[in-house]
Amino acid sequence: MSEVRIDLYSDTATMPTEGMRAFMCAAEVGDEQRGEDPSVNQLQEMVAGMLGKEAALFLPSGTMCNQIALAVHCRSGDLVLLDRTSHPLHSEAGGAAVLARVTLYPVDGEKGQFTAEQVAAEITPSTRYFPGFRLISVEQTTNRPGGCIWPLEQMRAVCEVAHERGVLTHMDGARLFNAVVETGISTQDYAETFDTVWIDLSKGLGAPVGGVLAGSEAFIQEAWQWKQRIGGAMRQAGIIAAAGVYALKHQVDRLVEDHRNAKRLAERIAGTPGIAIDPAEVETNMVRFDIGETGATSREFADRLLEDSGVRVSTPSPTAMRAVPHLGITEADVDEAADAVRALAKRLLEER
Ligand SMILES: *Cc1c(COP(=O)(O)O)cnc(C)c1O
Repeated sequence: MSEVRIDLYSDTATMPTEGMRAFMCAAEVGDEQRGEDPSVNQLQEMVAGMLGKEAALFLPSGTMCNQIALAVHCRSGDLVLLDRTSHPLHSEAGGAAVLARVTLYPVDGEKGQFTAEQVAAEITPSTRYFPGFRLISVEQTTNRPGGCIWPLEQMRAVCEVAHERGVLTHMDGARLFNAVVETGISTQDYAETFDTVWIDLSKGLGAPVGGVLAGSEAFIQEAWQWKQRIGGAMRQAGIIAAAGVYALKHQVDRLVEDHRNAKRLAERIAGTPGIAIDPAEVETNMVRFDIGETGATSREFADRLLEDSGVRVSTPSPTAMRAVPHLGITEADVDEAADAVRALAKRLLEER
């Protein structure tokens, strides 16, 4: 395989920074299962505070945050309403059915965002035939649609309808901070109407692993039991929790640079023959563009881009490409990637 020089595949490509590595090395640690790891405790307190919740729990991944939330909130067979593009449907290997034993109930939102009216229309009472809705789940920002930001009012309206009908609310806040730095709306304001919320440390924030799930004291107590049950309980986890503490202190505000770079990339690609992109659709750190008119498939385009220029992007659909700037990507990298995309589109059109 060709060498990856500019990795725009995902914000999961972030590497721990020098400062983060030094901070991890110096972390105080203990047995987290006994509540004796100061670094884990610090991270959990920071996140609970940021999200305005009573307590929080450090977990090895965001996927486990979603899985445990579903398992604690729901009884087996319950319905969980979420968008058709959402992570538990596409990327969690059916865990919702296996672990929480719930039924995921997809609705079609716009850019991954459904409305209070849709929720009101879908949530009908449970009968002998129809299982009950127990939870709705919202993704901020919406990943597959391209890092799009749920408007605060729309989220609140959705939660209000759910709560009126006795349905709980959960936010998959894998990229909540991307929304926060872009809109200036606080984490607490976004989180307020949700029973549970989690954030991912290993995406744009740049930690190597981990997610933190927040909710009420009673919820977190039950979540602890699930963490133990499925092997998520660790020991001297402070080494990795420290990366999260560092990220929250030093690498949140810089997410605006990723957004600026995403915009820059989109603007530099726009207008290229064979490529369809609207820079106005770039809301946070993700750039999506369509290369169908070049005659190539996205897979072919991605392979050749990597081969020719060492630029790696992902291929969300047969003709769609996705590029995600992050803390390892400079403005110069973005310009080089844009040039490479333009050059490849030109060559492909010439070859036709
Ligand atoms: C990445 C992601 C997850 C899962 O997080 P991991 O830490 O990779 O397990 C869940 N939801 C969304 C929206 C994500 O982007």
